[in-house]
Amino acid sequence: PFDVLVIGGGPAGATAAIYAARKGIRTGIVAERFGGQILDTLGIENFISVKYTEGPKLAASIEEHVKQYNVDIMSSQRAKRLEKKDLIEVELENGAVLKSKTVVIATGARWRNLGVPGEEEFKNKGVAYCPHCDGPLFEGKHVAVIGGGNSGVEAAIDLAGIASHVTLLEFAPELKADAVLQDRLYSLPNVTVIKNAQTTEITGTDKVNGLTYIDRETGEEHHIELQGVFVQIGLVPNTEWLEGTVERNRFGEIIVDKRGATNIEGVFAAGDCTDSAYKQIIISMGSGATAALSAFDYLIRH
Ligand code: FAD
Repeated sequence: PFDVLVIGGGPAGATAAIYAARKGIRTGIVAERFGGQILDTLGIENFISVKYTEGPKLAASIEEHVKQYNVDIMSSQRAKRLEKKDLIEVELENGAVLKSKTVVIATGARWRNLGVPGEEEFKNKGVAYCPHCDGPLFEGKHVAVIGGGNSGVEAAIDLAGIASHVTLLEFAPELKADAVLQDRLYSLPNVTVIKNAQTTEITGTDKVNGLTYIDRETGEEHHIELQGVFVQIGLVPNTEWLEGTVERNRFGEIIVDKRGATNIEGVFAAGDCTDSAYKQIIISMGSGATAALSAFDYLIRH
């Protein structure tokens, strides 16, 4: 059996694998897509000590770093079930069952897409999902935020300090964000809020130049000229496969303590699949290191 089996090959999982392997213990990593979300990222400017890099480049150097160590890498494999017996068993979709004394779950998350024409086409060309990451690229420009929940309203407040104008579009008749956030939003001079707005298309040529929506009250179609669209309709953790085993909150995020421990002994979790407060590369890496060190601590006590 493995001493530490990591599920997920993004920044959190890769970091956990390196930290575990450096203890000289038997380490494995299962990853559907090694690199994770950063493979879909163009510019990265907040990975401290590296002024600018690009997702695929960072993913390649993370993989190279993991390969420096004695880690059993199982790529293009999906975990589908976890069960705690004497050891922890993880069943893969190909039918194989892996056994380990400890497991670090780092299966990450995915942004919920709008699913309208132009969204896929203009990803990284004006369509963005992360205001902390891409906000500064829209300095002095007009951007839209789609989604009036807490994350959408927080994004709009954040972007209002950078962009020339922010238009927030909410599908429902009311914003769902906390009242304090809404008050803050409405106090800003360069923000427009449009409710009952169903976004139907993101337009552009080589990059985004506008957005089309239907006013759900009148049925009228409108077009706004702008340079950026931040989609903020939810970040979904990849934890469906843990149904009935590892404890999750109502958003599906794995509940961890400050050591990365879950409700199951010997099972730890890290990164965007957990209930961590913020979802960023540097934060995922930190929590991956924490989870691996906790797994090692568990091993020396059992
Ligand atoms: P992920 O990166 O999501 O990796 C999850 C891993 O688990 C993947 O290898 C996946 O294939 C695998 N996996 C999932 N389910 C299974 C399963 N059942 N079995 C096996 N493997 C599985 N953050 C920044 O700090 N700066 C930025 O500039 C930035 N820009 C971003 C831009 C975009 C477009 C996106 C989408 C995100 C961006 N982020 C940025 C956020 C950052 O990418 C994430 O916070 C980070 O990648 C999370 O790392 P993670 O390892 O927790 O999860």
